[in-house]
Amino acid sequence: MSTELLQRYQHVLQRIHKACQQAERRPESVALLAVSKTKPVEDIELIAQQGQTSFGENYVQEALQKIALHPELDWHFIGPIQSNKTKPIAEHFNWVHSIDRLKIARRLSDQRPADKAPLNVLLEVNISGEQSKAGFQPQDLMQAASEIAQLPNLNLRGLMAIPQAVTDFESQRIPFAKMRSLLESLQKALPDCQLDTLSMGMSGDLEAAIMEGATMVRIGTDIFGARDYSQS
Ligand SMILES: *Cc1c(COP(=O)(O)O)cnc(C)c1O
Repeated sequence: MSTELLQRYQHVLQRIHKACQQAERRPESVALLAVSKTKPVEDIELIAQQGQTSFGENYVQEALQKIALHPELDWHFIGPIQSNKTKPIAEHFNWVHSIDRLKIARRLSDQRPADKAPLNVLLEVNISGEQSKAGFQPQDLMQAASEIAQLPNLNLRGLMAIPQAVTDFESQRIPFAKMRSLLESLQKALPDCQLDTLSMGMSGDLEAAIMEGATMVRIGTDIFGARDYSQS
């Protein structure tokens, strides 16, 4: 079991490396976020021993237990955020990828402890325009970003998306290319922000995301194996 996990982890690192070569990008320009939701802390420890430092979690209670055991790791909240859950997120995470409303951003800024560095945040974009998906509509992004950039205890770092799942490479590239161009517009409009992050690409589409400029890929299944259906 543990050797399988290590092999899958190494295989994902190789895929990222190869995708960078194909995109003519430096491998260090793409960070791997290991998405450990629903997985035991032992699995996290095993790949942390291999040098993996950043982990993504979707469920607050589950994440808090893992963070308490490993506060030295770099924890990213990537799941949907209910407004009554912002306080523990503001207190215990280093990054939040799933900001989809102004109200959530304000609460996170208000609740970020004063002795911690500003919370790194990404705005989630509903890039495929799916009714069921969270995220800002692209046309609302600029206004939201300029307001969120003013919040004192947040550091607006970029954008995140979960595009509609499709299997062929050329179709996968389309929403990722749109994301890159949205980030470029934001960089022009907000030159004083540290807008250096495009969080996009999951197990099934990391190569297309890297081709279009992803700086962080979020990989769960292809590292840790399939999750329980009920929790995925
Ligand atoms: C679960 C999840 C992932 C990981 O997806 P896999 O397909 O298992 O790699 C990435 N991003 C978000 C926001 C997730 O919720």
